[in-house]
Amino acid sequence: MKKLLFLIILMPCLIAYGQDRAIYEPVPIRVSPSENGSPPSDAIILFNGSNLDAWNRTADDGPARWLIEEGAITVDQGAGTIKTKQVFGSMQLHIEWRPTDIIRGSGQGRGNSGVFLHSLFELQILDSWENDTYVNGQAAAIYLQQPPLVNVTKHPGEWQAYDIVFTAPVWETGTLKSPAYITVLHNGVLVQNHVELKGATFTPEPEYKAQCGPYSQEERIQDCTGKMPITLQDHGQEVSYRNIWVREL
Ligand code: MG
Repeated sequence: MKKLLFLIILMPCLIAYGQDRAIYEPVPIRVSPSENGSPPSDAIILFNGSNLDAWNRTADDGPARWLIEEGAITVDQGAGTIKTKQVFGSMQLHIEWRPTDIIRGSGQGRGNSGVFLHSLFELQILDSWENDTYVNGQAAAIYLQQPPLVNVTKHPGEWQAYDIVFTAPVWETGTLKSPAYITVLHNGVLVQNHVELKGATFTPEPEYKAQCGPYSQEERIQDCTGKMPITLQDHGQEVSYRNIWVREL
């Protein structure tokens, strides 16, 4: 009898309680997924293999002049670091990169480039295939701040991929309220897991400054509290990039 009372009286209450937590809005928008390397349907394409229209040279905001060949761009040594014309806050970024298959130099002198999130925080690009260097400077390190969890580097000359989730720093009236965070997959393997960024990676000490000089912009001091470009480093070594896209978060 008690069991019957439970079923009749209490069960509907429990079901109703659970239903109270269900939500129906907003409905997530429909996005077509990435297939065979193509970007998802809501991605902003930063390089699709044919031109550098989305990019400028950082030093003087002039046209980006890296080499375009066979669907890839390659650092043209001396052409300078480049940055996106569009600025971004928090984002998902996909970028593929390839050091030359001709092994020259060693340590930091081999396949060195970099992806600067927010123009301030370098996710290192380096040929880390059988190439010893300091671990917070190898491929997939947050430069001089955080080594990768593992080394997933492929053989030089092979294409590799970073999939990055970047949470932008939050500022309120010139005061830092929340630092930036980064999660990175290198060739599909987790290498940075929601790591707090201590500040700019190229300054003598990591630092956050509301007014700052972003990487390779000739120390041009500017407001660094809002959205900022993505930057690709010319470190004077041969590294190529392709299939670069971003989703704003
Ligand atoms: Mg670098």
